Amino acid sequence: MPFEQAPPTLGNQFEDDRVLRSYLARVCPAEMLNEITPSLVEMGRLAGGELYQLQLADRLNEPRLTQWDAWGNRIDRIELTPLWRVAEQIAVEHGVVATAYERKHGALSRVHQCALAYLFTPSTDIYSCPLAMTDGAARTLLASGNQELIERAVPHLITREPTEFWTAGQWMTELTGGSDVGLSETVAKQEPGADSHEFRLYGRKWFTSAISSQIALTLARPEGNPAGGRGLALFYIETRDDEGRPRNIEIDRLKDKLGTRKVPTGELTLNGTPARLVMGTTDGVRNITPLLNITRLWNGISAVALMRRGLALAFDYAGKRVAFGSTLAEKALHVDTLLGLQAEFEGAFHLAFYVAELTGRSEAGEIDERDASLLRLLTPVMKLTTAKQAVSVASEVLESFGGAGFVEDTGLPVLLRDSQVLPIWEGTTNVLALDTLRALGADVSLEPLRSLTTKLFESVRDTRLNELVKIANSALSHAENWVKDAQATSRSDLEAGARRFALTLGRTIELALLIRHAQWSLAHENDHQAVASAQRLTKLGVDLI
Ligand SMILES: Cc1cc2nc3c(=O)[nH]c(=O)nc-3n(C[C@H](O)[C@H](O)[C@H](O)COP(=O)(O)OP(=O)(O)OC[C@H]3O[C@@H](n4cnc5c(N)ncnc54)[C@H](O)[C@@H]3O)c2cc1C
Repeated sequence: MPFEQAPPTLGNQFEDDRVLRSYLARVCPAEMLNEITPSLVEMGRLAGGELYQLQLADRLNEPRLTQWDAWGNRIDRIELTPLWRVAEQIAVEHGVVATAYERKHGALSRVHQCALAYLFTPSTDIYSCPLAMTDGAARTLLASGNQELIERAVPHLITREPTEFWTAGQWMTELTGGSDVGLSETVAKQEPGADSHEFRLYGRKWFTSAISSQIALTLARPEGNPAGGRGLALFYIETRDDEGRPRNIEIDRLKDKLGTRKVPTGELTLNGTPARLVMGTTDGVRNITPLLNITRLWNGISAVALMRRGLALAFDYAGKRVAFGSTLAEKALHVDTLLGLQAEFEGAFHLAFYVAELTGRSEAGEIDERDASLLRLLTPVMKLTTAKQAVSVASEVLESFGGAGFVEDTGLPVLLRDSQVLPIWEGTTNVLALDTLRALGADVSLEPLRSLTTKLFESVRDTRLNELVKIANSALSHAENWVKDAQATSRSDLEAGARRFALTLGRTIELALLIRHAQWSLAHENDHQAVASAQRLTKLGVDLI
């Protein structure tokens, strides 16, 4: 018989996921778990089955921009690929955004929604991008108190009816800067006699993802406002008229990108685009924060989702690929390598879903002041830490396939390319490390993290885990001492070390959450795997200061 290599395959992505199932069993009341399980089984089936097959078949397709029709009219039409059209339908019908707003399970509805997003994302070539912005726009409009816009747009953003569904874009980045948006040059002008909320926008937006969206939230400076972030206002735009023509928006071109190639990311010229103020004529950067918090949560959930997909394929392949007389699954070094990646994934998983829990409690009005400051701090910490892990895990996953991992039609390289965007958009690692310092306040206090870890460690009984508790406590103390010293020394010392500091906080809290879960899993499932992952995470490095 000629040699035949069996490719990696996927099963039901919910049923095969020990980490997700064990986590949900711990955090969800039994009745809720019974109610939500069918939705997760179904999403896991689609993600490992027909959606995954469609993703493989759609590999070479990309969105297309047609700027002119045959008669010389500017139309700027975007055509999405078949995968994205199906993904949208599935996302809407299965409530991948709606679940968080229907709130059938109170604050834990956010966890249910994130579990759906986590299963759905890796088979969709980042359809999570428009969903994240749609979710973020719904949250921002609801927080704005602008009743007119809430009634007009939010029902479309959170519907389960595909024909009613709208996606939202988030147009912030300009040529002058994506991190320093205070430099934005887009101007908002009012025409004589216009309603006080109605403006027209003039300027260029340099990165606008999922440009097929029906609405967008954007920043612009009303004429006469001061320079800087405070002088910008938050605006709501409906992108197309009733005939589907862009409203004084020209899509200059689509970006030619390393990854996220299914996402149509446009460069735009706004040439008198009608826009409505969302709230106030200033403080746009502050007012768009609810959107950024949600998209950063989605970024973390996408990071763990892509890691999980890579590992599901890599573990499966290890059982099929033979080298030097046995499968890779029987090679101690190969297994050790994969289990290291598994530990990174499990730490990241617990951090991302913990932020989902806090987000859900905040949205349901069930969060106290201490946990609200924890959410403020952990959102940037979680986003930056999990994004970095996703890139390094994806790189190792490709290597675990040898040469096949570098070959496009295996469908593997896209995992690395798509992961690489996670540390860049929604705030780069450095920008979020500086945001972490801001979240600590003037006295750079780590007290909210200290009280979190104390609470997490209360239940720990296992002697192996007690050893790990010491490592986490020592990393936190080191971070605490470092930040106080650096602040006392100079602003420049503080900023220079901010990335190592923020990553140390991220990895320490990942370890702490994993320890707590490992103790629960031992007690309730008699499962030692989470203990092993926590041990490995400490070997891979927690304190990076
Ligand atoms: C695929 C893709 C899609 C995108 N989609 C959107 C979108 O839909 N809407 C949108 O608004 N934007 C979008 N962006 C833009 C993205 O948010 C920005 O690229 C990002 O915020 C960084 O901004 P920048 O490119 O201007 O880089 P810069 O701000 O110029 O940053 C360059 C480098 O400087 C570092 N840096 C910046 N400030 C500091 C500092 N104070 N201290 C230390 N280091 C610093 C950064 O970490 C980075 O490494 C998208 C980007 C990509 C790649």
